[in-house]
Amino acid sequence: MQSLRFKAIDNLLSREEVSVKTSAKITGIFGENVFTLKTARQFLSDEAYKSLLGSIKNAKKIDRSMGNQIANGLRAWAESKGVTHYTHWFQPLTDLSAEKHDSFFTLKGDGTPIEEFEGAALIQQEPDASSFPSGGLRATFEARGYTAWDPSSSPFIMEISNGKTLCIPTIFVSYTGESLDAKTPLIKALVALDKAAVDVAQYFDKNVAKVTATLGWEQEYFVIDAGMANARPDITMTGRTVFGHAPAKGQQLEDHYFGAIPERIYAYMRDFESESYKLGIPLRTRHNEVAPSQFECAPIFEEANLAVDHNTLLMDIMTRVAKRHGLIVLLHEKPFAGINGSGKHNNWSIATDTGVNLLAPGKTPKTNLMFLTFFVNTIKAVHEYSSLLRASIASAGNDHRLGANEAPPAIISIFIGKYLTEVLNQVETRVGGKFDEQDEAMLKLDIHKTIPELMLDNTDRNRTSPFAFTGNKFEFRAVGSAANCANAMTVLNSIVADTLKQFKKDVDAHIEKGDKKEIAIMQVIQKYIIESKSVLFEGDGYSEEWANEAERRGLPNVKTTPLALDAYISEKSKHLFESNDIYSHSELEARHEIMLEAYIKKVQIEARVIGELATSVILPSAIKYQNILIENIKGLKEAGLGEEAYSNQLSIVNDISKHINAMGTGVRNMIEERKKANVITDNREKAIAYCDNVKGKHFDDIRYHVDKLELVVDDSHWMLPKYREMLFLR
Ligand code: ADP
Ligand code: MG
Repeated sequence: MQSLRFKAIDNLLSREEVSVKTSAKITGIFGENVFTLKTARQFLSDEAYKSLLGSIKNAKKIDRSMGNQIANGLRAWAESKGVTHYTHWFQPLTDLSAEKHDSFFTLKGDGTPIEEFEGAALIQQEPDASSFPSGGLRATFEARGYTAWDPSSSPFIMEISNGKTLCIPTIFVSYTGESLDAKTPLIKALVALDKAAVDVAQYFDKNVAKVTATLGWEQEYFVIDAGMANARPDITMTGRTVFGHAPAKGQQLEDHYFGAIPERIYAYMRDFESESYKLGIPLRTRHNEVAPSQFECAPIFEEANLAVDHNTLLMDIMTRVAKRHGLIVLLHEKPFAGINGSGKHNNWSIATDTGVNLLAPGKTPKTNLMFLTFFVNTIKAVHEYSSLLRASIASAGNDHRLGANEAPPAIISIFIGKYLTEVLNQVETRVGGKFDEQDEAMLKLDIHKTIPELMLDNTDRNRTSPFAFTGNKFEFRAVGSAANCANAMTVLNSIVADTLKQFKKDVDAHIEKGDKKEIAIMQVIQKYIIESKSVLFEGDGYSEEWANEAERRGLPNVKTTPLALDAYISEKSKHLFESNDIYSHSELEARHEIMLEAYIKKVQIEARVIGELATSVILPSAIKYQNILIENIKGLKEAGLGEEAYSNQLSIVNDISKHINAMGTGVRNMIEERKKANVITDNREKAIAYCDNVKGKHFDDIRYHVDKLELVVDDSHWMLPKYREMLFLR
């Protein structure tokens, strides 16, 4: 029987091209499946529209009495587009989205069939939530959870083959109000940021009434043929290859990055982009990445909560659309060893309702001071809470990537470029370290003149920094490709909110002592620069010197997830989150448990796949080939030939035995470690055991022998598609 591997390769040749229908103009379809305010205006009464608008603006719950009217309008719109079902769409703590479909169809008391959608069903639901991660919260408080409409993200219609479903973006909380999803804390963090940033922005402009965080993510991903992926149980089960020898040609020629997008992938991209446009996801760029079969897409930035929804939605769309093309999209941070992994850069800034980007250098001394204020507060926040920021991006997948000389290290530092470094140096080293009236000239620093150069001069872009200032925004680069950006965004916005709150207190204290406002601000900025400059680093983040230097500076360098997650439950973090009304202590502890559990399960699944593949797929192929060689040697001997005739075969037979034995020993020992880990009841200890003893001691070792076998065993006996096939054949 032909193996799946060769079937997949054969099928590539006879594959029919998938035709993609796309609109000539993006504007022709953009947002057509979204219940935008413009659409709402058409389908809602004045009263209902006003109520909706009010909830969106003030992040308020929809008024019950208006619920029915809005629900009716929503249903009328959805039905006009052929929708029969609706669902509350939410983001449980799994990095994926969840939904449960109900139809508009129902029976009246007398059995008359009708279609209806009540306000109550729009506003709140109780999905059977018992199987979503809760970290013990639901058990402790109440067995059920409920979803509640988040009006700040518009309802949309999801098309799956020919079925259409109205999706209502919701938050997911326990009955006693603890958050069980990614969005609830994010929204709270954004509220905290809004308040703290408005207070500070008003030093400069009394007209500022609202500040929002903006997010533009860059999604990296791999795409491979689905037939090949199906022949790799490791990809199916874990999203990554646990074995596979590096191909003769990898990414060393760097020909993929600059090359044309392969045709089959191009069709796939156009297809998922078109679906995304209909859902109002403003995708803007697409290109090849450095590794073969790796690509990236990025949208125009949006308000952070919406941007997070759009990224979650996009990951779902990409996964579904890939199937139509006989492809599989791999969002894992490290699907292939020895080849670049995937990240999701989070470009982040803060903007006022007066249309000002607070992280864009200004054109006047006053706006420059405003820029400097928010810029330095961000630096201070990252310095103060770097461990928490590190924790926000920790996952089993991202552990393979961080610090692997292609992605930022696990040390959180900030790159700001040489001009801003110079500006901060000047502020820091004012005579006597104090600002007085004469220093007002300092306020006139023409920062804006130097920034455009920074943006033009690409050589000043440091690719190795996990957190870089790129002209008018910060780019948090250490986020993993499979992650929900909500985690990173919740932490970043919380720490900046908290720092701004403190900043306001510090400045006000100076003002009370009689300092002029500008001088007060400058003094606090100076103090913050001095306190946090150790987090600034302009050099090569991949280098060993940096790891040493960072240690001298006292910057944390936590390399693995189980330990990185500790930062979530430190006293400092608990205080931060509780005082800003983002997480209660029990919510934090629950999250910590959930993240540890996710880590344990992921490594556990990988360990099982490694054991099973080594024993039932790799070993049989190796033995079959070894037997062929032995037959051959026997034959040569019988023919009366001396050892020189079969010495090569004999040495391969020997090698195969060595690797089989080492592989088998490795698997047995790994299973022993797993057994020991499984009886540990404390999740943190268990996660550490999985990390250090199951994975750390054995994964690479077993893989080493399997990959050596791959090189010697007859190619036609090898069952798993090889790297060269997955990465280069399409
Ligand atoms: P790069 O050189 O890193 O590709 P781009 O300027 O193309 O930089 O932007 C990358 C991402 O940053 C895009 O998603 C873009 O929308 C986003 N971005 C630009 N300005 C902002 C901003 N003010 N806030 C948040 N994201 C932004
Ligand atoms: Mg970028």
